[in-house]
Amino acid sequence: MTHDKIPLAGVIGSPIAHSRSPALHRHWLQELALPGHYVPMDVAHGDLPEVIAMMPKMGFVGCNVTLPHKEAALEIADLVTDRAALIGAANTLIFRPDGKVHADNTDGFGFIENLRQNAPDWVPSSGPAAVFGAGGASRAVISSLLDAGVPEIRLTNRTKPRSEALRKEFGSKVVVYDWVQAGNTLDEAATVVNASSLGMVGKPEFRVPLDGLSASAVVTDLVYTPLETTFLANARARGCRVVDGLGMLIYQAMPGFERWFGMRPEVTEQTRAVVLRG
Ligand code: NAP
Repeated sequence: MTHDKIPLAGVIGSPIAHSRSPALHRHWLQELALPGHYVPMDVAHGDLPEVIAMMPKMGFVGCNVTLPHKEAALEIADLVTDRAALIGAANTLIFRPDGKVHADNTDGFGFIENLRQNAPDWVPSSGPAAVFGAGGASRAVISSLLDAGVPEIRLTNRTKPRSEALRKEFGSKVVVYDWVQAGNTLDEAATVVNASSLGMVGKPEFRVPLDGLSASAVVTDLVYTPLETTFLANARARGCRVVDGLGMLIYQAMPGFERWFGMRPEVTEQTRAVVLRG
């Protein structure tokens, strides 16, 4: 009789109770009838290195990492993918059989895959992208949009030095606009992204004047509570194809799941319902 270990994975953050990842991974494990468990782990900042060193010994094959550990996880890793290095943060760790910790960042993949699946006619190279927000999520958005062939990124953030820092890092295809000029970035934009936390339940609305927005633009919001933000509803009313942020959350989880549990999961309406329930 063999005693193969049941693979364990999970998500490390603090706080972590709100995370939708356990529901998503458990749903996929059940749907694919795979052995395995996925657990939320609330870990204090200073304890991360010790916890990660112990996890493979307990049967963990990897984990997701979320706030406030995304940068620290990159430091701890022995091997880092190019996209994680470029973004400067990790969200997916793989514990390799040789003992090495491999760090990846799948946020940009999730962002692009969500657009490709839900706006199949989207052509990244067809025009500039307007991106609002310059926090952690925006870094993944910018890096993946450039990788997808977007010719120019017009970046606006309330705190301008943060957008200027991103321009320095990602180069001259990133053009910084003042926050008060946000509406001007929409002229001829083919892709429009709210990567700020505005519009999220409990936060102020995201109020950018949409007069310059063309009906041919693809508009997406990283915020997914509510699922259809006022920003997306207004863009839809102007005839734009809109894509909500729930898909990004789901698609960023796929590469990790596949590596840890050995099968590629599917994304269906049921997947979305499971994640929405949390
Ligand atoms: P973050 O690093 O904390 O950045 C927050 C961003 O929102 C900054 O650009 C910040 O501007 C801006 N902001 C916050 N409050 C503002 C206000 N009152 N007025 C104007 N700007 C404001 O957060 P993040 O990790 O980048 O996440 C941003 C959003 O994306 C969050 O809502 C998060 O839930 C969502 N997200 C979704 C997914 C997904 O899978 N769908 C993945 C990652 C993140 P300042 O620089 O001026 O503070």
